[in-house]
Amino acid sequence: MDDPLLQALGWLAGVMTFALCLVSALGQTRACRRHLREAARAIDGRVRGNGWGERPRLDFAVDGIPAEFVYSPGPWARVRFRWSAPGRLRIAPAGESAGARRLPGDLGYDVPEFAGGYDVEGGPEAWVLESLSDETRGCVLALAALGAPTGGSVPIRIDVGPFGLSVFYRGNPAAEHELLTGFLSLSSRLLRGLRGDSPAGAPAESAEEVAADGRCPVCGVGLDGVLRRCQRCRTFHHGDCWEYFGGCAMYGCFSRQAERVRLE
Ligand SMILES: [Zn+2]
Ligand SMILES: [Zn+2]
Repeated sequence: MDDPLLQALGWLAGVMTFALCLVSALGQTRACRRHLREAARAIDGRVRGNGWGERPRLDFAVDGIPAEFVYSPGPWARVRFRWSAPGRLRIAPAGESAGARRLPGDLGYDVPEFAGGYDVEGGPEAWVLESLSDETRGCVLALAALGAPTGGSVPIRIDVGPFGLSVFYRGNPAAEHELLTGFLSLSSRLLRGLRGDSPAGAPAESAEEVAADGRCPVCGVGLDGVLRRCQRCRTFHHGDCWEYFGGCAMYGCFSRQAERVRLE
């Protein structure tokens, strides 16, 4: 590659590849935003974060319970309902829940339909067993089959607790119209299945109140050891809870930038 012409051509090819990647990425972002707007119209929601470089999100409500959907950056997209569950339930791809903080009193459960695919843990036991109804299990399996090749599945994660119901999907449902509407409607069905007849209304204890009380907004337990402090809203999280949740757990924050802080 001593020939200056070859060098120039190589350089030009590099620049053009970069430009093509940029154009394709911008096109994908535009398609995602369009799908969000279409979904918003169908469910009476609102797309926020329309500015340059801002991460778009979809705000909507199900039976009066506020919800938010976000995707990227990172491997997981998620929808989160601001509903205060009377117990904790986590459904995660087998082996992956190991990274999550197991709370005092949480137990593991065997669900035959999820065998080998998903681990289930939570508490109190009576509430978890009641929550794992036919409807709930069906919703989870339908979510995992969404966008997957026939007979296959996509990793999903369900996290239910006092600070909300979050449904995580590995991939970006907003990339396809059908995928996004399917994801949102199955997640809403899951919320209804879990809530049963319990009334809507404000959470018994919001993530904001928990954080103000010096506890972690992911697990609700007191903070100690090596923590993460969100660079945007300054809220402290346990390090493992931050990793598990994929960023800040405060409603409407969505930051993935944090500094490590050791609390004495
Ligand atoms: Zn925590
Ligand atoms: Zn934050």
